[in-house]
Amino acid sequence: MQADPVLIIAGLDSGGGAGLMRDLATLAAFGQRAKTAATAITAQTDAQVLAIHPVPAETVAAQIRAAGRVAAVKIGMLTNAAVTETVTRHLPDAPAVLDPVLISSSGTPLLAPDALPALYALMARVTLITPNLPEAAHLTGLPPDAPAEATAAALFAMGARAVLLKGGHAEGPEALDLLFTATARIPLSAPRSATGKRGTGCTLASAIACGLAQGLPLPAACATAKAHVTAYLNTP
Ligand code: PLP
Repeated sequence: MQADPVLIIAGLDSGGGAGLMRDLATLAAFGQRAKTAATAITAQTDAQVLAIHPVPAETVAAQIRAAGRVAAVKIGMLTNAAVTETVTRHLPDAPAVLDPVLISSSGTPLLAPDALPALYALMARVTLITPNLPEAAHLTGLPPDAPAEATAAALFAMGARAVLLKGGHAEGPEALDLLFTATARIPLSAPRSATGKRGTGCTLASAIACGLAQGLPLPAACATAKAHVTAYLNTP
């Protein structure tokens, strides 16, 4: 019998640097079948977001319903409050990884500011959230250089069940991510890569969803995903 697929709920980056296309490439690398729910169609180069066309919330809901039974879910760009609320309402009964995408590297908002309350509600429903330091600061109101423990504690107080705090935006020779669960703090380290590729957040969250779909415990799924991102960054 075929294994259940992973559902990707994310935006289409026309350039393929991030978003749905990157997610699908990651699933293929892990041998996972995909179902998709596109939340927005965007026109992008590696330097600029040129246009964003949100998908109507009812179409997102229909795509999730059409996916049927899935083994895990990866959630990326949600674009607005209506789509975010719809995803929360229709979230399949499966482990889910939420990459709280707020803004592109080039500075364009990818989630409407008035959608934050809806994002908080979704945050409390998923298995894991994977904010980078600027996203964690934005979500908590704490400074980006606040102690990781304080940031994680604030996210737990907001309802998060597990937090992978991504240190890629920090300085230093190590790219150190910290996984906080209800009972543990687990460091995941890799040498910092200088390639500056886009789409690392999408790749990481999708890879974690693949690990969860394949039955790995959360720490092992995160460690495997981190190794996958490091290999991706070091591939020319
Ligand atoms: N576009 C889409 C559809 C995304 O999902 C994301 C991030 O998840 C981005 C753009 C931003 O990517 P970057 O930060 O690499 O510009």
